[in-house]
Amino acid sequence: MRLALIAHDEKKPALIEFAREHKETLETCELIATGTTGKRLIEETGLDIERKASGPIGGDLMIGAEVASDDCDGIIFLRDPLTAQPHEPDISALMRICDVHDVPLATNLATADALLAGLEELR
Ligand code: PGA
Repeated sequence: MRLALIAHDEKKPALIEFAREHKETLETCELIATGTTGKRLIEETGLDIERKASGPIGGDLMIGAEVASDDCDGIIFLRDPLTAQPHEPDISALMRICDVHDVPLATNLATADALLAGLEELR
């Protein structure tokens, strides 16, 4: 299972908290993340994560490319719906490619919980 983790700035603390709570499950996955999200997760949770570029300079698209080549099995992307993001087209592209490839995409904590619960059932 190769899982991508992404969070907009306002949501990074929530993702870090989530990753701490679910560390045992996440450790069984190959993890990738956008640049800043990955840096903070590594520093603050100790998880082993492959970092892509930062979102605004193309990290979302790099993760989208993995979805397109069927290398990424799921994404947890805590988006901030209240703040305009300069790279909104890239975010839309990432969400679109997940729908094209039927890759589970969780965009809030409730669906992130559901996605991980599904994973645990598969184990
Ligand atoms: P970041 O990118 O982890 O580099 O902040 C996330 C995003 O904005 O999509």
